[in-house]
Amino acid sequence: MSSFMTRARRLAGVLALSGVTAVAAGCASISTQQEAQLGAEYAAEINRQLPIVQDQAVHYYINQLGNSIARRADTRGLQYQFFVVNADEVNAFAVPGGYIYLNRGLIERAGNVSELAGVLAHEIGHVVERHSIDQLEKAQNANTALSVVYGVLLGRPPSGAEQAAIQVGGGAVFASYTRDAEREADQVAVQYLVNSGIHPGGMVTFFQKLLEEQRRAPSQVEQWFATHPTTQERITNTQQMVDAIPSSTLNQLTRDSQAFQQFRQRVSQLPAAPRS
Ligand code: ZN
Repeated sequence: MSSFMTRARRLAGVLALSGVTAVAAGCASISTQQEAQLGAEYAAEINRQLPIVQDQAVHYYINQLGNSIARRADTRGLQYQFFVVNADEVNAFAVPGGYIYLNRGLIERAGNVSELAGVLAHEIGHVVERHSIDQLEKAQNANTALSVVYGVLLGRPPSGAEQAAIQVGGGAVFASYTRDAEREADQVAVQYLVNSGIHPGGMVTFFQKLLEEQRRAPSQVEQWFATHPTTQERITNTQQMVDAIPSSTLNQLTRDSQAFQQFRQRVSQLPAAPRS
């Protein structure tokens, strides 16, 4: 009993320090510093739970590409980190604070750097526009996120329910984004890509590809559609944004690179994650 009280008091102290109490209380404004701290705690837990690809060349390429977009997109000083998850299902998700996860199944379906960068820019958009932190607040209401944070702070393995929440690739913790959030992330992503010298047309072709796969073989793309509602309307809107960019600008933007093709080949040759 007394040791429980001591532990509870210590936990309360840590939570207060990390600003988690402000989130748990449903406080609307989470500072960038609090977001970075929460994101780091989340990412540490996710990295323990998901089969993260440790290959140095893979890790280097995705971080170099991701940061080339993020540093022109986010002005809040967040340190973005990108991770490849050794899972065949198509999925990508953004944790507050700038931690972005992409499944190998998504990377293997991207035909060129423009398609992969389109997804990265879209996920970065969710962080910049604070959609991810809004999601966290919603999850806090359901008490899911807080129990995960407790798990991190208590240093005990998370319970089965907590693990399940993480295993679905953030799907349960980070509920589906709204159509408005999706539209907003697409809009800013087009601009981020142009600013980074990458052709935004890949967003259109890649999301079209996923939509076609959903009709053909829905199970492999289920996670993506559960968290990022992708519709023909969204794709058409993105195409219109791309069409509005002067062709003199578009002609100078990168669609593909040898570095990307080497990266994709390396990812596709990775051994499958061991079944746990
Ligand atoms: Zn999205």
